[in-house]
Amino acid sequence: MRQQGGGGEEGAPTGPAGEVIIRFLDVGQGDAILVQSPEGKSLLIDGGRSAERMRGHLEALNLTALDLMVASHADADHIAGLVPAAALKPRLFLNNGLGGTTQTWERLVSALQDAGTTFAKASNQTVNLGSVKLRVIAPPPGVGDEQNENSVGIALQFGDFRALMTGDSETPETEGWLAQDRADLRGPFQVYKSIHHGAANGDSAAWLANVRPENVVVSVGTGNTYGHPTAQALNLYKQAGARVYRTDRQGTVTFRGRADGTYTAETER
Ligand SMILES: [Zn+2]
Repeated sequence: MRQQGGGGEEGAPTGPAGEVIIRFLDVGQGDAILVQSPEGKSLLIDGGRSAERMRGHLEALNLTALDLMVASHADADHIAGLVPAAALKPRLFLNNGLGGTTQTWERLVSALQDAGTTFAKASNQTVNLGSVKLRVIAPPPGVGDEQNENSVGIALQFGDFRALMTGDSETPETEGWLAQDRADLRGPFQVYKSIHHGAANGDSAAWLANVRPENVVVSVGTGNTYGHPTAQALNLYKQAGARVYRTDRQGTVTFRGRADGTYTAETER
């Protein structure tokens, strides 16, 4: 399925040429988002819970190198698939600075060390991925040391096209960000990832009123035991007037954004 959207503003195109591609990979229950700049630079945010599944995606996409890797946080449904992706030798690995306590985390660290990757704790900074600007959203102060509430966000900007992904950031974290009154989190965003796979402790009306998503992607596994996505979250997206995509029903969801703010969305099924 393919849909067009965005834009609507008259006038000469501004900003860089080409398209940024954002793929919400179908990895079952978990998150894995691959971003490719018009120049062919690549970023992987999270990798889902299955190394095998991620390996399949990397092969199918013929991805032979990775510039940047971000772990939103160290839970297994976000980092297990990053282990095979480390073989693509990302230059830089960003995370929340809280190491995991699992063997999966240790495997990831050692794979990245073997790849010669630089480790950095996320701070509020801008990283360029070719002509795509990535605003790193560090966890706000005062959220404690739980993994979900320390999710690292990425606000992507390509001219007038914007996308926001914030891992499994539960309500205390989004409340902290709202208290910071940050311009980089003020919508509208054409593309937005549902927080925490549509859990009840993720998105809130106040947060969605701030980020104003046009399209929401729920990255979720068929028949997952968590009850994700919840009716509550789906209702919030409906009330926000957003179009909803689900990887459990539609497979991988791909957006191609242009600098004038227009985009296409394509689903695997
Ligand atoms: Zn998760």
